[in-house]
Amino acid sequence: MTNLVVLGGGESGVGTAVLGKTQGFTVFLSDASKITDAYKSILLQYNIPFEEGGHTESKILAADLVMKSPGIPYTAPIIQKLQQQNTQIISEIEFVATRGDYQTIGITGSNGKTTTTLLTHHLLTTGGLTFGIGGNIGTSYALQVAQNPTMPYVLELSSFQLDGIDTYRPNIAVITNISPDHLDRYEYKYENYVASKFRITMNQGADDYLIYDADDVESCNWLNKNKTLAVLLPFSIKRKIDTGAYLTEDGKSIVVNVGNQAGEIVIGTRDISLEGKHNYKNAMAAVVIAKLRNVDDSLIRSGLKSFKGAEHRLEKVLNVSGVQYINDSKATNVNSVFYALDSMKTPTVWIVGGVDKGNDYSEIFDLVKEKVKAIVCLGANNAKIINAFGSVVKTSKIAEAGNMVDAVKLARGFAEEGEVVLLSPACASFDLFKSYEDRGRQFKDAVHKLQE
Ligand code: ADP
Repeated sequence: MTNLVVLGGGESGVGTAVLGKTQGFTVFLSDASKITDAYKSILLQYNIPFEEGGHTESKILAADLVMKSPGIPYTAPIIQKLQQQNTQIISEIEFVATRGDYQTIGITGSNGKTTTTLLTHHLLTTGGLTFGIGGNIGTSYALQVAQNPTMPYVLELSSFQLDGIDTYRPNIAVITNISPDHLDRYEYKYENYVASKFRITMNQGADDYLIYDADDVESCNWLNKNKTLAVLLPFSIKRKIDTGAYLTEDGKSIVVNVGNQAGEIVIGTRDISLEGKHNYKNAMAAVVIAKLRNVDDSLIRSGLKSFKGAEHRLEKVLNVSGVQYINDSKATNVNSVFYALDSMKTPTVWIVGGVDKGNDYSEIFDLVKEKVKAIVCLGANNAKIINAFGSVVKTSKIAEAGNMVDAVKLARGFAEEGEVVLLSPACASFDLFKSYEDRGRQFKDAVHKLQE
């Protein structure tokens, strides 16, 4: 029996362990930190031996195959040892791919993965098709496959999951866009990160599709220099695209034509529930997929209208005394802030800061100058932000807060009727918060308290 060792007892690790067990592998799961009670009870239920708070090397090095959870870097000592002895190390996605011929739509990119994945799933399912959803979202993909092996899936894929694939081949792949992120995990080499994203297409054949942003410099560079067998379906907000999708010059409609019998569809941007140019891109990618799967035009239209955006992504929280509060806590890099600010229509008080992952703020100077009237810095170390924007925004309009309640109060002090307070941090959250979700919820709580 194949000896499968799973490293990491979180969502993807526990799911893989269960799938392995139900398919006859000998499974052992090991986590260097604590495993939550909920995950432990699943492991116990399936009779899967596990350890936590450390790795028993002898057991791990005896593996025939190792599934590594995406959070564990390749530089971890145990991974290095496994690599030295040439043990195969794969991700959850690869493990499932080796277990059967599963139909998937794989969505990756630096920004917009979750939104595009949710919207795609929404258009397909409201279009009458059966699709599961997994990957970086919700319940583990492997666990779902263990419970329902025949369903096709829409998968949100991070670069870490793609690093661990060998044979995984999505029938439809999307790369939403590429901008610097997580460089700490790629030896600070941007090209390594870009290459990691493009692994999504490396096993694709001529029957498969690759949807990508034709305005994205990195994506186009890669495609000019490298080969994919997949049919290319680009989308653009800058120019007309014959086969793929584009935003019309007046910005009023998106036009999608994937070159099959489903024909062309033209959709008014007013009829898309999501706002902002970046979301038109996400919508174009999702509609391209719906068209490839022959979803009825009328159902695509109603699906685009009924889609509720994901929490913490340009989420409108509340209007208090004429000021609109917007939670964009998931904006953990500069590129997503770019699109957030770009979609602001009135003067904006911007709450920004946290753990800086090597941000270069110069690309948003002009936008900040144009849209931002005041800045509230919310991080353990705000010096870089103050330095970067001190010449763009008056120093009297820059304030610092050490917690969310104070940040929201300061922001309210700056904002006048008709204006916006936007939490769009450009940074990770771990200095003051447990996660970006925690940061977003604290923001929403603080905003609701303003009404009391
Ligand atoms: P991901 O899952 O890739 O992190 P999300 O859909 O969660 O992407 O969005 C993350 C952040 O990026 C949000 O702040 C959102 O407003 C912004 N965003 C969403 N789509 C795009 C896009 N296509 N380009 C740039 N920024 C985007």
